[in-house]
Amino acid sequence: MGKTIRICPKCKKPSLKPAYNVSGWLAPDMFRCEECGYIGNFYLEVEPEEYLKFQKYLRDKEEDEHSQ
Ligand SMILES: [Zn+2]
Repeated sequence: MGKTIRICPKCKKPSLKPAYNVSGWLAPDMFRCEECGYIGNFYLEVEPEEYLKFQKYLRDKEEDEHSQ
C-alpha cells in the first residue's frame, strides 16, 4: 500500500543505493549499501512504520548488550 523502505540485510540501515558496475552502467536489481559497503540483490523491505519499530528494537537490544 504505502511507500516501503529498503534496508541493508547486513547493517540494517536504509542506506541502499542502486549499484553500478565498473563500466558505470546500472546493474539491474543490484544495490549497494553506503553504510557498510554491502553489494547484492537481496534486501529487506519494510513499511516506514515497521522500520521505526525495528529501529527501536535495535536500540533496545543495544542497550541490553551495553548493560551486561
Ligand atoms: Zn549495510
